[in-house]
Formats: sequence, structure tokens, C-alpha cells
Amino acid sequence: MRIDIITVLPELLESPLNYSIVKRARDKKLVEINVINLRDFTNDRYKSVDDYAFGGGAGMVMMIEPVHKAIEKLKSERVYDEIIYTSPDGEKFNQKMANRLSMKNNIIILAGHYKGVDQRIRDHLITMEISIGDYVLSGGEIPASVITDAIVRLIPGVISDEQSALSDSFQDDLLSPPVFTRPSEFMGWKVPDILLSGNAADIEEWRHEQSLERTKKLRPSI
Ligand code: SAH
Repeated sequence: MRIDIITVLPELLESPLNYSIVKRARDKKLVEINVINLRDFTNDRYKSVDDYAFGGGAGMVMMIEPVHKAIEKLKSERVYDEIIYTSPDGEKFNQKMANRLSMKNNIIILAGHYKGVDQRIRDHLITMEISIGDYVLSGGEIPASVITDAIVRLIPGVISDEQSALSDSFQDDLLSPPVFTRPSEFMGWKVPDILLSGNAADIEEWRHEQSLERTKKLRPSI
């Protein structure tokens, strides 16, 4: 899989995409992630990517020309399954969407900045708009990192024990059961006996019950 992220602030994406599971996936060549600096697609010597909003009002707007140029260059090199714009008013991101996107070959994520992007970008160049929640961030870089991380850990082979991704919360519309590690007792707080029993079938059943209980209590809507 290949993910191309278009941004005006490549630095913001560096650390989230270069550690932990995402880094291992990149090292194992299971995913190729490219961070594309939008300023490389500008024509003027100031490398402008934004301009005043028509009609006035506070805040700058990302211009269509550099975005169009960047997307056209990428599209001339390969076929893209989705061209995503991160936006607070987009479709709310969830695990189902992450699963669906993890099966794609090539996607572009356009991270917005300032007041957002010229509406014509959204109308004509974008195929999908994703929000990571009902709040407003300063830019689309953190949302792009969130989306990329959630997708990458689902690509087969990325997590060595595939069960581990499958048993995560939301994968089967259930939240994960609680987990414990050593010591088995800390300040009088004990790990449930069943987990120390060594009985795999009982443990499996207990975990499933805990998942059901947690889901009912914490996410009754799923
Ligand atoms: N004026 C816009 C917000 C602009 S915030 C509005 O009110 O909708 C600047 C950029 O940050 C946006 O263009 C978008 O790309 C990104 N962004 C901010 N919050 C986001 C969220 N919750 N989900 C996804 N992207 C977001």
C-alpha cells in the first residue's frame, strides 16, 4: 500500500510516522508513506500556498493551483483509490473506515491548513472527506497521522501476531477486555484469578464476557 500525504507542514508528520508500528511497517516495505510538501508545487518565489478569502473575513484559504498540480503529478504516476481531504465536517473516522481503507492500494491524504481549502478543491479533486472528531484542530497533519496509523496497523503482516489487531476494540463491534501483567498483586490489588488459572478455554470465555460487559457499559450504541 502507498499513502501520499500532501501538507504545508511536513515537519509535523515526521515523528508520528517514524516510530513504533508505523515505522516497522515502512521498514518491512508493507507500506510506503510519502510526505509531499505543497510548497514544491508553487510558481512564485514566495512559495505561496494560501491567499485571502473572496468576500472578506478573517483567515487565509489554501489555493487550488498548487494542490491541483500536486495531485495531478501523483495521478500521472499511478491510479489512486481515494483522494482524501481531512475536514472537521467530513465523515466521522472509525475502525470500519480504517479497515476499508487498509485494503486500498494507493491513497492521497490532503491535510488542510488556515481556514481550510478553496471549496473547488473539495468539489472537483477530492473523493472522500474525513473528520477525526467534532472539534477543530489547527491543521490536517494530526488527523492525517491518526488516519495513517489506524490504517497501517491493519495491513496484513504489519502486526506480527495478527490476532492482536483482530482482537482490538471495534474490530468485531466489541471493546477489548481488560489486560494485566506482572506483578499478580500490587498494593493488595489483585489480577483476576481466572487469568492465572492456565485454563485457556475458561480465560477465553471470561474475556468474551468482559468484552460484552464493557461494550454494554461504555459503548451501548455499537
Ligand atoms: N474553518 C474550518 C476549520 C479549519 S481548521 C472549519 O470550521 O471547518 C484547518 C484544517 O485543519 C482543516 O482544513 C482540516 O484539514 C484540518 N482539521 C481541523 N480539524 C479537523 C478534524 N476534526 N478532522 C479532520 N481535519 C481537521
